[in-house]
Amino acid sequence: MFRSWRIGRIFGVPTELHWSFLLVPLAILVYSYETGIGLRWSQVQWWSSVTILLFGFVLVHELGHALTARWCGVHAQKIILFPLGGGALIPHEPKRVSQEVLIYAAGPLANVLLALLALPVLLYQPGGGYLIQYYLNPTGNLIVLPTLTEQLLGITFAVNAVLAIGNLLPAYPLDGGRILRALLKRPIGDRRATVVATLLGILIGVGLIGFSWHLGDPVLSLSALFIVSFSALELNRGWQRRQLERTELVDVLRPAPADRIYTTDSVARARALFAKTDARVLPVYDNWNQLSGFVEREGLTAGGSA
Ligand SMILES: [Zn+2]
Repeated sequence: MFRSWRIGRIFGVPTELHWSFLLVPLAILVYSYETGIGLRWSQVQWWSSVTILLFGFVLVHELGHALTARWCGVHAQKIILFPLGGGALIPHEPKRVSQEVLIYAAGPLANVLLALLALPVLLYQPGGGYLIQYYLNPTGNLIVLPTLTEQLLGITFAVNAVLAIGNLLPAYPLDGGRILRALLKRPIGDRRATVVATLLGILIGVGLIGFSWHLGDPVLSLSALFIVSFSALELNRGWQRRQLERTELVDVLRPAPADRIYTTDSVARARALFAKTDARVLPVYDNWNQLSGFVEREGLTAGGSA
């Protein structure tokens, strides 16, 4: 069910589309439908082009991570593209903190680069200043009627600026949160660094959910919900690891059965002892009462059936 499809290798990095991409054409149709008019093909074409453009930006972001990882000598396993973003799978951490920071920063930096490429071209258009203002605040009062080229440039500028700034928020699992965790590892230790980054993830995520309600933006709501749940999961995982480290075996030890079995006992006697307990393994002693080894319930019951 949670599968993804390989679309090819981009700069040598295997790239996959997540199955939830099947929802994208549906979303395009919904966005292109107007009550009373029906499906408008010009809108379908427009939203399809915008979607392809957006995935281009996400792909550039992920390639920023993957190619920088490779440059640092770390294997980038693959890139997976989701409808609301993407992820570069880098299974092993780099040796140095500076490399880790560089790999996480490279994604947002790639978006900064795209925004900075679009900015001067947009400014060069007649009324360029107004265009920039409009794209920085599309719900503002400023009314502009951009041409198709200006629209594409404006989207390139604004979306990449949002992708860069958004991903640099110091909230786990965003790039900013991972950078923060990498930087805190040495001064306060792995565990505390994770606690700080994930708590910030929960706080900032909850703040973003409120903000998205204020804006009425379902995409931001979903992204914020994703941040909160990922942070909570990672925080919980860290807490459980800590509990395991603190728990001594004496606290989880099961009492040994009163009867001991010895190396010279018959298998039948061991089976009789297994019948009295739900233990799957029993200690076996030699005739000096020294621990000699273990017998497993499975091995005994499968061996001889009597
Ligand atoms: Zn990223």
